[in-house]
Amino acid sequence: MHIVVLTGGIGGARFLAGVRAYARETGDEVTAVVNVGDDVIMHGLRICPDLDSVMYTLGGGADPERGWGRVGETWTVKNELAAYGAEPSWFGLGDKDIATHLVRTTMLNAGYPLSAVTEALCARWQPGVRLLPATDDRLETHVVVDVPVGESGTADGGTDDGGQRAIHFQEWWVRYRGDVPTHRFVFVGAEAAKPAAGVLDALTSADVVLVAPSNPVVSIAPILAVPGLREALTTGRAPVVGVSPIIGDAPVRGMADRCLAVLDVPCTAAGVGGLYGARSAGGILDGWLVDTTDAGTTVPDLTVRAAPLWMTDEAATVAMVRAALELA
Ligand code: GDP
Ligand code: CA
Repeated sequence: MHIVVLTGGIGGARFLAGVRAYARETGDEVTAVVNVGDDVIMHGLRICPDLDSVMYTLGGGADPERGWGRVGETWTVKNELAAYGAEPSWFGLGDKDIATHLVRTTMLNAGYPLSAVTEALCARWQPGVRLLPATDDRLETHVVVDVPVGESGTADGGTDDGGQRAIHFQEWWVRYRGDVPTHRFVFVGAEAAKPAAGVLDALTSADVVLVAPSNPVVSIAPILAVPGLREALTTGRAPVVGVSPIIGDAPVRGMADRCLAVLDVPCTAAGVGGLYGARSAGGILDGWLVDTTDAGTTVPDLTVRAAPLWMTDEAATVAMVRAALELA
């Protein structure tokens, strides 16, 4: 069986560890289609936070406490950049992590697509699942905000739009913690983006598609914004089952609540299920898995089932994966 997982960074990576453990028992093949909307160029380096979170986590090199970046990281380069007053100073780049970005940037500059670069980086990390960026093209999540007066300089040269300004998602989250008047999210470049090499083939050959308990607004939506990808999902033969990142009306961790508020979507399992929508009603899902706390959740036209969704350890996550596959 071929399992395809749509995923963001940290939440998706933990879910994928469970999918991988399940597939090791059954001999199933796993492909992860990973969000690139968080990608950004800083200090001349191309950084892919979600691809790296998944690659480091599955490769055993992630920092479990911080949740992002490398375990045993040092910060010499960051401190040296700060001594030069080099902006952006609000973005943490660790020394070990920088080696990844150097290799990636060098390969991209030499003309390799991101999908090929990712495969090359994975030769070291052996994540045990195939990692594909959703697109090889530039697709960046920007956020339209009212930036506080006196803080007009943006990392990516964000453009003024009357009283509003579009800033990169990283700046919105890392610099402002999402705590700034926010109007909307824009997936810059999405219209012209094509699914990365291998993505459509993966969706066509999938026996089941799982939507990881990732942030629906800034991890899954940018994947679905790649033209052709959503269609491949909705017209494919494989059942599509989503796993809720919201338990008991709150995200388990991260900023899904702030993101959902921008869209006026309730931060509930029902809210996110409704945002994805039933495939039979123009959405993407056939089934929606919610936590046992949220048993009784209903979403129009969607089969909803409840199971424990806390990814406390790998065994608990494997049980989640089993429940999702049974629903499929
Ligand atoms: P990011 O790109 O690093 O933000 O990671 P993702 O978008 O892949 O995942 C973030 C989401 O994971 C958040 O909305 C969390 O609520 C969710 N999440 C984290 N841990 C758990 C867990 O144990 N169970 C469930 N159901 N969701 C989780
Ligand atoms: Ca992310």
